[in-house]
Amino acid sequence: MGPRSPQPVILIVEPFGGSTRLHNPNLPMVYWDDAAVTRGEGIFETVLVRDGQPANFERHAARFRASAELLGMPAPDPSYWRRATLEAAAEWYRQLGQDPATGFEGEAKCVWTYTRGRASTGNPSAWLRIEAIPPSVMEQREHGVSVMCAPRGWSTSETPHEDAPWLTFGAKTLNYTAAMAALRCARERGFDDVLWLGEDHETVLEGATSTLVIVKKGQRLRTPPSGGDVLPGTTQAAIFEYAQAHGWRCKEKELTVHDLERARSVWLVSSVRGAVPVMRIGETELEPRDLDEARELFTAAISATD
Ligand code: PLP
Repeated sequence: MGPRSPQPVILIVEPFGGSTRLHNPNLPMVYWDDAAVTRGEGIFETVLVRDGQPANFERHAARFRASAELLGMPAPDPSYWRRATLEAAAEWYRQLGQDPATGFEGEAKCVWTYTRGRASTGNPSAWLRIEAIPPSVMEQREHGVSVMCAPRGWSTSETPHEDAPWLTFGAKTLNYTAAMAALRCARERGFDDVLWLGEDHETVLEGATSTLVIVKKGQRLRTPPSGGDVLPGTTQAAIFEYAQAHGWRCKEKELTVHDLERARSVWLVSSVRGAVPVMRIGETELEPRDLDEARELFTAAISATD
């Protein structure tokens, strides 16, 4: 058997040819003039690796390409990223002492990073990493989360795209500074997560790093409309596709905090955390109903992705 907690596996990806190079995680890697470092310019995807395979791959690859296009970067080739993910995953499971001949087992977190690259060469930089899923994620899957509502402080609803075509809303960019600051603030105040509110301080948008989904009576699922202020979530899309095919009615709809308080259950969904129930919003304790039924649906939907 190998060690129980392997080191992260880092694979540098050559963005135009797809060749890869394993990188020692204890050594520095990004150049001083990389736009990711100097300007925060780049994109990423966080992908669940399950039993050796990237989950929900096509949706991640599509969003990765869309993000690159919004930033005016060369389109990433999905076949390179799939191959690199499989290669890094094989190394990850090998470090765990697993044998490829008998198949890999277990979950890990994979992050693809793609930046505008070095100012001196003009070539984009690309790499991925695979690491263990933090224990806090397991805890949240089981016990749920409390959330602090906070105005996001900006909105696209007042600004048509033609007036500000440089805005990269809808892209999953590296700029999570405000989200991380809000999460720190939430934790200081005793909450696990942040739920962003729109300009009116009533409309709910999404979590700091997750999509909001609510369950309503009569087998209905609702999520705030994506685009503009809300990142299109790959997990929510997979859940809605599966649920719709199993008799649920699923819709994007504007939601308020009041709608959440009246829902049967409220969930934050994202690739690695999966679906976690919200148990408290601000000072309001929720009393979720049919948690097991919803959890079963979401787990089945997420397991069905490949
Ligand atoms: N919304 C934001 C702002 C996010 O950062 C994320 C994931 O990181 C999500 C939603 C959920 O996306 P996905 O389900 O594709 O992981």
